[in-house]
Amino acid sequence: MDSTGSSLERTRAPAHGLEIEHEVSLRELNSFGLPAMAHSLVRVKSEGDVRRLLADPAYGTAPKLVLGGGSNLVFSRDPQAVVLRVEVAGRRLVAERPDAWIVEAGAGETWHEFVAWTLAQGWPGLENLALIPGTVGAAPVQNIGAYGLELADRFESLDAVDLVTGRTVTLDARACAFGYRDSVFKRDAIDGGLSGKSLITRVRLRLPRPWTPVLGYLDLERRMNETGNRAPDARTLFDWVCAIRRAKLPDPAQIGNAGSFFKNPIVSAEQCRDIIGRDPEIVHYPLPDGRVKLAAGWLIDACGWKGKSVGRAGVYERQALVLVNRGGATGAEVVALARAIQESVYGRFGIRLEPEPVIV
Ligand SMILES: Cc1cc2nc3c(=O)[nH]c(=O)nc-3n(C[C@H](O)[C@H](O)[C@H](O)COP(=O)(O)OP(=O)(O)OC[C@H]3O[C@@H](n4cnc5c(N)ncnc54)[C@H](O)[C@@H]3O)c2cc1C
Repeated sequence: MDSTGSSLERTRAPAHGLEIEHEVSLRELNSFGLPAMAHSLVRVKSEGDVRRLLADPAYGTAPKLVLGGGSNLVFSRDPQAVVLRVEVAGRRLVAERPDAWIVEAGAGETWHEFVAWTLAQGWPGLENLALIPGTVGAAPVQNIGAYGLELADRFESLDAVDLVTGRTVTLDARACAFGYRDSVFKRDAIDGGLSGKSLITRVRLRLPRPWTPVLGYLDLERRMNETGNRAPDARTLFDWVCAIRRAKLPDPAQIGNAGSFFKNPIVSAEQCRDIIGRDPEIVHYPLPDGRVKLAAGWLIDACGWKGKSVGRAGVYERQALVLVNRGGATGAEVVALARAIQESVYGRFGIRLEPEPVIV
């Protein structure tokens, strides 16, 4: 059996009534379109499915990889773990309070569809996060953010199943320890984190009342100037965000990619002054705590990477922060390209770029 899935033949074995699929191609299950094979895959539709798997003598203690929409993962090889594809469904209004609507979605719901649904119900607040690919359950993992808003700004709580004990816990924002594209779910156990240790099943968000638009982002400011609309409603903001994103980012259905490949590095004011001394054009944003965020895309572009390739993996022509699959790329090629970029950015600026997607 090769890892392209072309000679795929599935076998199924019951485990406490749970269906386990074998030798499943993951190419269609990751937005980069990278070839990889799940030797065992379970579709998780409820907490009960996780508990049934944990009770199984053959699979219960095996390593596990939680998979949502595969839009923030790079398969550099076949996962050496049972793949748990999260398909928990459902969305509802939990509470309508004077200060907020509390809404809940199953982890397997598509994030963008959930955002569109809340707006259609008359519960605005997530519009700046429109069109981010992936599932609701993965949104807290890296605290998704875009256009001046992060998930943490709207977060109420989540339910997660412990992948060892099968117990369900409810975590609030403090327990999730959100940071910039970071949370307790991205940190290893050695750092007090829960990486690979739990499967998020449900997420609840708090949409503040009255609604106020989040407009601080440059691209939105530009739209306001172009249209003369200085007080956009939530629906207009949603449409603007979708249009801006479609113009800027490659659609994974057309060109495989995982969005921004590197986090924007945060440096001390002193380090930034030093870099500005050498490169006065550098794009940087001062942070409230005195540190400075640098535009990773600018650093990569400055090193001459835009449009370049390593094998069939390349740097997107319109945005150097996005690595793309030029057709038939392997995860190893994507990782080799990412390493080469990291080395040249370090060589020129002394800054280590940190990948945003999880490398499997
Ligand atoms: C074109 C494009 C644009 C993007 N733009 C943005 C953006 O603007 N802002 C942004 O923040 N991100 C962006 N991303 C990244 C990506 O969309 C998000 O990180 C998204 O939340 C990933 O969701 P997913 O379901 O695909 O997760 P996956 O890729 O399936 O998984 C990502 C990680 O989360 C873990 N995980 C997934 N589901 C669960 C769960 N239920 N419980 C526990 N762990 C889980 C996985 O094990 C893995 O470690 C973009 C990606 C693409 C392709």
